Amino acid sequence: MSPVLATLADLVRINSVNPAYGGPGEAEIAAYIRAFFEKCGLEVIEQEVFPGRPNVLVRLPGRNPERRIVLEAHTDTVSVQGMTIPPFEPVIREGRMYGRGSCDTKAGLATMMHALASLHEQGIKPPCEVLLAAAVDEEFSYRGVVRLCEGLRADAAIVAEPTELRVVTATKGVLRCRIVVHGKAAHSSKPHLGANAIGAMARVIAALEADAEAMAAHAHPLTGPATCSVGVIQGGVQVNFVPDRCAIEIDRRLLPGEKAETALAHYRHLIDAVCARRPGIRGEIEEPVLLVDEALDTPTDSIVTRTASAVLAELGLDPTPCGVPFGCDASKLARAGIPSLVFGPGSIDRAHTVDEFIEIDQVETALDFQRRFLLAFE
Ligand SMILES: [Zn+2]
Repeated sequence: MSPVLATLADLVRINSVNPAYGGPGEAEIAAYIRAFFEKCGLEVIEQEVFPGRPNVLVRLPGRNPERRIVLEAHTDTVSVQGMTIPPFEPVIREGRMYGRGSCDTKAGLATMMHALASLHEQGIKPPCEVLLAAAVDEEFSYRGVVRLCEGLRADAAIVAEPTELRVVTATKGVLRCRIVVHGKAAHSSKPHLGANAIGAMARVIAALEADAEAMAAHAHPLTGPATCSVGVIQGGVQVNFVPDRCAIEIDRRLLPGEKAETALAHYRHLIDAVCARRPGIRGEIEEPVLLVDEALDTPTDSIVTRTASAVLAELGLDPTPCGVPFGCDASKLARAGIPSLVFGPGSIDRAHTVDEFIEIDQVETALDFQRRFLLAFE
């Protein structure tokens, strides 16, 4: 087994399921990364995010101390519930390595670790300083990358996520909020004395669905169209009451360049228009909203994108920048003013699945990419 695959196997053996999904968290994997780099003589810093859950930062000096590249990968995984393979046994079969996190995103992490370690061991100084950041909590609340971004200065960042070795410059953002319709309670034998919040909410949902259909016609060239999904509904106390409250939670995916505030204003208007026609009914979006994460939208002619595309072309891979619908740590780095890309081995369709795996040849190629990128970016 090659060194990068051996490291990946070690990482898969460590259970780093996010505590939000009942796991032990990232302490053990952080200790592994620290030991790995201490052995090869690189400076390691731990950045506490939650008690016992640190980001691990590793610095490889460059020729120009004024310029810095961040390589970022998250160390947590989603839960192992429902998995049909042993989650922490890195079995290799037919060119794939199986296990929780093998694809999302321990393979990307292993390639970044070996890019740094191999350059250091060969005594090669890249043009820019490299900061490897192994961050906690991507799969739940992004607190690891948010902590990382505090006071961070860098000229480019690559974030490891499965992109099938494509360079991703655009990801959708997300807005999650709770919409509440208030009505008036009454006895169900005299419904005309009340105002039925569930009935009104049904109209709000119908309006949201019509609105989502209209959005489907306006596709962003890299990410496709914005979407909206109603994921939760709650309302009513018992069948012989007219319900005075109904709530839904929606998940709205934002396009690059789209502001969450604009989408919220649009939905407030839509809710008001539905409720205004119904006496005794009032609708609102609950504040604060549940989640806002704006999209990633790195210019395709930026230096980081052009460098990454040139390296992919050198390797005989597709150099065209593309977009993905999923969110990750990259948008937070971009918001901190760091031009950021997403890149990694494996397919997002294999992430979070019951039999997660990674194609091992893609892992080797991704390592080659990371090394070449660090040597090419000035
Ligand atoms: Zn991930």
